[in-house]
Amino acid sequence: MAALPAPFKVIIIGSGLTGSLLANGLLREGIDVQVYERNDINTKREGFQIRLTAPALAGMRACLSPEHHSSIIKKFGPASGLKAEAPRVIHKDWTLLVDLSKFTVYGKSAPINRGVLRSALADPIYDAGKLHYSRKFERYEIVADGTSEERVNEQIGLDSIRPIKKHLALAAKCELPTERFLKMSKELFGGPVMTWADNMSYFFGVYLPKKYDTNGNCLEVTKNTSYDENLSSCMVGLNVAKEKAPADLAQRSLDEQWDFFADSIKHWSPHHQEVVEMVRGAPLHIYVPRVASRPAKNWRKSVATSSGDVNKGHPRVWLIGDAIHAMLPPRGMGGNQAMYDSGVVMAKMAHLAQIARSTKRVPRKEIEKAVIEYEEEMIPRAFEWVKKSGGDDFVPLDTSKFSGRLFFFAVAQVLRVSCTLQWIGQIFSSKPPVDETPEFN
Ligand SMILES: Cc1cc2nc3c(=O)[nH]c(=O)nc-3n(C[C@H](O)[C@H](O)[C@H](O)COP(=O)(O)OP(=O)(O)OC[C@H]3O[C@@H](n4cnc5c(N)ncnc54)[C@H](O)[C@@H]3O)c2cc1C
Repeated sequence: MAALPAPFKVIIIGSGLTGSLLANGLLREGIDVQVYERNDINTKREGFQIRLTAPALAGMRACLSPEHHSSIIKKFGPASGLKAEAPRVIHKDWTLLVDLSKFTVYGKSAPINRGVLRSALADPIYDAGKLHYSRKFERYEIVADGTSEERVNEQIGLDSIRPIKKHLALAAKCELPTERFLKMSKELFGGPVMTWADNMSYFFGVYLPKKYDTNGNCLEVTKNTSYDENLSSCMVGLNVAKEKAPADLAQRSLDEQWDFFADSIKHWSPHHQEVVEMVRGAPLHIYVPRVASRPAKNWRKSVATSSGDVNKGHPRVWLIGDAIHAMLPPRGMGGNQAMYDSGVVMAKMAHLAQIARSTKRVPRKEIEKAVIEYEEEMIPRAFEWVKKSGGDDFVPLDTSKFSGRLFFFAVAQVLRVSCTLQWIGQIFSSKPPVDETPEFN
């Protein structure tokens, strides 16, 4: 098997954020793409909010038309008047430890409902007849060019994603009509909140997208507010040590689950608890997150050699997004890195398609070169975030301990110095500072 016959075709397994975004780019390039999604077309995937920043925007710019891109940007929500925000790290007594939004060196992010984003990316693929629901991938076959077929019943051979050991995750969201939003304590305004204390981690954020008319004009919904009440929501998450949670928590009644949530933070500030009372009653998503461990640079070669199966680590099977670098959510980078992958892979696929168009064949060594280049860029970038997101530990730092508080004090000082240096650098630089998230201004 030396080369792929033209036409060049791509199959994507899964129409999540990464797969759908990449499929949009391939369609725009005129590349034949088919997407297979295991879920039913009517499956409503939980629409928790996610916060996206520069890497996701770069992926979107690479794959989407400017019109599609800007229609999605309108669905991002500001919080407390700012289009983009970085989180505040707050102690369990609500003392502010570090406000990352004050530091220009910390990338700004904006929230969007994951379900809304996923639909905005997947629906055009479905409309183009390229997305097939209720089709679950179970195995792949490498089909040789020409006549012969090689069957490969085993997977690619990179089994590096594992459930985390120590913590259990609880997450919920509730609708946030303007009336409810305005009743929140003022302390809850001003960017998402993160707390790491008592061997738990806590997250709270609001999603308040603006409402637009069909001409793209922002509408005033209630006096002085223009939030789209059909989409506005807030989300709270708590990660607790597994041994603290009853083994059958997920099977218990919703009331008991919420009692457990509230009880876990009963010694924390009233504002932490206010959020819980606001969201109480909404379905709680209780799960054990999975995390990837960093593959070796030459993993494809090693799995092929160690298994004696040349189809393991095959260069025609590419892994992108959570399929290779699943990470814990606290740093909000899983989707960002996943969508960035789509942009990088998009460029590689366009190059291979170009070869297919001009020579009618894509030599295996070209595919191998492209996937290795992609992985050489992706592995250090994405796995740095797997590490920064705590690796497989939801509470790598605990501000109930002196060392945790000291760490955040040091972070604030380092960020302050970096910002000052950046500011001084700008004074002496003739070039304007690069804004990596201009869409959020
Ligand atoms: C609570 C929470 C908060 C988060 N917050 C943030 C955030 O603020 N910022 C951020 O950047 N990221 C965040 N993330 C992470 C982000 O949601 C993921 O990294 C991102 O969705 C990964 O996209 P993906 O396309 O790789 O995977 P997914 O979105 O999970 O999509 C995979 C798709 O593949 C389908 N599929 C799976 N197996 C098969 C099969 N065998 N056959 C066919 N189809 C299959 C699935 O049904 C699914 O549709 C958060 C995650 C969680 C859980």
